[in-house]
Amino acid sequence: MEKRERILYDRETITERIRELAAQLDAHYEGREILVVGLLRGAFVFCADLVREMQSKVEVDFMSTSSYGNDEVSSGDVQILGGLRADVKDRDVLIVDDIIDTGRTLMTVTRAIETMGPRSVKSVVMLDKPSRREVDFSADWTGFTIDDVFIVGYGLNYGPYYRNKPYIYTYEED
Ligand code: 5GP
Ligand code: MG
Repeated sequence: MEKRERILYDRETITERIRELAAQLDAHYEGREILVVGLLRGAFVFCADLVREMQSKVEVDFMSTSSYGNDEVSSGDVQILGGLRADVKDRDVLIVDDIIDTGRTLMTVTRAIETMGPRSVKSVVMLDKPSRREVDFSADWTGFTIDDVFIVGYGLNYGPYYRNKPYIYTYEED
């Protein structure tokens, strides 16, 4: 059987939603500086687009996580691989990720940053699959809420590829 692309959110729809999120974030953090922490590798596209729509003063840093070497499914034990260069103490930290699935990645990273003495820690994700949640955790801002389907594009991978596709799609057998 052949696999086919089915576009869920095209480039324009994504851009529009990111403008709305950026406006909400600017309003929330009004007058404050934000330490944006993007989670590699999946969030690199969303993070780049989001910060460019924001008016707030931001410092951008990245962290890398893995769940037993498999990039597609969280296995439960999330490890933080790449540390931050930025000083977190007394900062307003905004974690940016591509998608929240089981919730383990965002929860683990949030807890780790909380130990570093920040003023606040919040998170924003492009996509949320609430039906897959295994821990009691949710992002503070969400782009789109979706069903339990495997997503590719806009930072999300299929094997090592397609993170660069500028739209969000499913890639499944018909
Ligand atoms: P969680 O720890 O919430 O289960 O997983 C979050 C990570 O799993 C995401 O940052 C992403 O790397 C990966 N992931 C979860 N769902 C999908 C999906 O539908 N497609 C792809 N490509 N990666 C996913
Ligand atoms: Mg990820």
